[in-house]
Amino acid sequence: MAWHKKPKTNLTKLRLLRTFIQFIMFLLLNLTFFLIGATWLVLPINMPRSIFSSSEGAFFLLQRMLTMAIIPLIPLAAFFLLGALFGRLFCAWACPFGLFQDLIGYLTSWIRKYEPTQETNLNLRQIGEFIVIATALVSTFIGINVAIGEKAAAQTAFDVFFDQPWAVLSPSTFLFTAIPLLFWWGGIENFIIWEKFVHIDVIFWLRLSVFIIALIIIIYIPRGWCRWFCPVGIIMGHLGTHSLLGVGRNISKCTHCGLCEDVCPMGVRILSHPAEKVRSPQCTNCLDCVAVCPDDAMEIKFL
Ligand code: SF4
Ligand code: SF4
Ligand code: SF4
Repeated sequence: MAWHKKPKTNLTKLRLLRTFIQFIMFLLLNLTFFLIGATWLVLPINMPRSIFSSSEGAFFLLQRMLTMAIIPLIPLAAFFLLGALFGRLFCAWACPFGLFQDLIGYLTSWIRKYEPTQETNLNLRQIGEFIVIATALVSTFIGINVAIGEKAAAQTAFDVFFDQPWAVLSPSTFLFTAIPLLFWWGGIENFIIWEKFVHIDVIFWLRLSVFIIALIIIIYIPRGWCRWFCPVGIIMGHLGTHSLLGVGRNISKCTHCGLCEDVCPMGVRILSHPAEKVRSPQCTNCLDCVAVCPDDAMEIKFL
């Protein structure tokens, strides 16, 4: 039927637009690569500070400030204000690690993807919840030690985990920091110096292992890291269920064809949510469901 072509075209156009905006954001966040100085863009995204980045994601800044015994007002404001207004919008449209996952998804589209049940989808978020709580507790503990003059002892005890405990294991830090450092350190003339690999320590292999596990999950489950493990996604998911921006379904137009659920990259069971607004912690406001709906039943909602 003719309408089968329309949603596919709309979806392709939307995904192209989103990928373009994600690339622009990636360039904006890495201005140092073009020898342009730091910016003060603090967004709820999975972006560590690297040798190229000109800003830092809110969760990384939060850890850095807590371990320095500074009240993290800026990252908390970024989370709560942007989360209350836009939900997980930045996950779909601005996060570099989200872009990486989308690109891996497109490149491996020939591999069969798996869609866990809604229950599994929500239950596995507890791993991410644990990462958020553990990181906050460890960072605060380090900060307290710094505040009472025990910085040297804390530094010795926590070693590489001292500045930003979760950043050490985060696959985004490995992708955007460890790999560029390994290949780029010293400038283009030292692009690859194989002797550097001799000095790699056990932490590197641990980080590489986490990265490879994340990569395998992402290949088989679209946005697998975003769904269950990313601390930013977990925090923004809680705020996103009450955010002003969202998507909803016009039940007088909906024919229950299920196309919107089929294309949702986060596995949201849209039809099981209240029609007026999808209140899922997984929804990133990517708008794929709006673009694909053949009856224009999916709508952007603000309020
Ligand atoms: S949930 Fe995904 S898109 Fe959102 S900040 Fe984390 S890695 Fe980025
Ligand atoms: S909202 Fe649109 S795509 Fe989703 S089930 Fe209804 S008609 Fe189909
Ligand atoms: S429900 Fe719609 S807007 Fe939300 S993640 Fe799924 S496809 Fe994107």
